[in-house]
Amino acid sequence: MFEAILTICLLAAGTDCRDALLPGYEAATREACDMALAATPPDPLPAGHAPSSPACKPVGAALDFTEVAPGIFVHLGQIAEPDRGNRGDMSNIGFIIGQRSVAVIDTGSARWVGEAIWRAIRAHTNLPVSHVILTHMHPDHVFGASAFAGTGARIVGHATLNRALADRQENYRQSLAALLGPAFLGTASVVPDITVQDSLHIDLGNRVLDLRAWPIGHTGTDLTVLDRETAILFTGDLIFERHLPALDGSLRGWQSVLTELATLPATRIVPGHGGPVLDWPDGVAGMQRYLGVLERDTRAAIDNGQRLGDAVHDIAASEAPHWQLFEAFNPRNATVAYTELEWE
Ligand SMILES: [Zn+2]
Repeated sequence: MFEAILTICLLAAGTDCRDALLPGYEAATREACDMALAATPPDPLPAGHAPSSPACKPVGAALDFTEVAPGIFVHLGQIAEPDRGNRGDMSNIGFIIGQRSVAVIDTGSARWVGEAIWRAIRAHTNLPVSHVILTHMHPDHVFGASAFAGTGARIVGHATLNRALADRQENYRQSLAALLGPAFLGTASVVPDITVQDSLHIDLGNRVLDLRAWPIGHTGTDLTVLDRETAILFTGDLIFERHLPALDGSLRGWQSVLTELATLPATRIVPGHGGPVLDWPDGVAGMQRYLGVLERDTRAAIDNGQRLGDAVHDIAASEAPHWQLFEAFNPRNATVAYTELEWE
């Protein structure tokens, strides 16, 4: 198989380059790929890059997915912070194949991840990708969506996602560009096409996905996806496993969302980090315990008149043995929890 590639480089330093996939020109032979490129030239990539001319090359590396139920594929992201080693592959990703089309759920930190998802899908089906569903605003879930621009896929998110991305994504882009280096090349801003106020049903052809938008919890943009046929629920970062949960919304809100989430008719879930498949509702236990300890310790610090600067070292310290990346995220969680509960 062949595919269309554009070599893109940083304008400032002509040596930092990467080959970006242009989805949709896949063909069995180089000649057929060349003819498709000549017939329909691709849209230009975002400004700020020095692109070569598009060329057809043998298909590059796909992202690694496991089929966890018929037609449901899951990629396990690394439990890590973004760096040049993992190139931003640190969140779970799924795709679901119906009889008419495919839906992608979350997209990784950069355009290259989206390209590698596309290749993984094309290894299984030629059906179009109709929907790219973003479970929330965090950069490790949204930026791969830029690879799907021009493919006809529509980007789906929570009703508050447009506003949240408008406020935050430029900062996210700058910090990821610095952390990931050339791996971030070609990554563009993401603008959802379809927003979900409460719920939305997407039919992929004899396969219905039930999307639900949640009140503020992990973030203010949390969306879940339930595959009716298999009762597998994609929770995004409403559920973490092994990776310490990161609180960027409301502690009390998250706890109440988890209580309601546990009543959904799911049998297994795919969390945003860890897993990648957990039994349900057993899979919520670690999260509930951590958030409970975070609340209890934060209230105790506030009641004892402990100042935030001192309290962040004590709050939820007993949870450290249970989680990875504890030091990276727990002080922030304690700060968010303290600020929230202080004003109750
Ligand atoms: Zn997140």
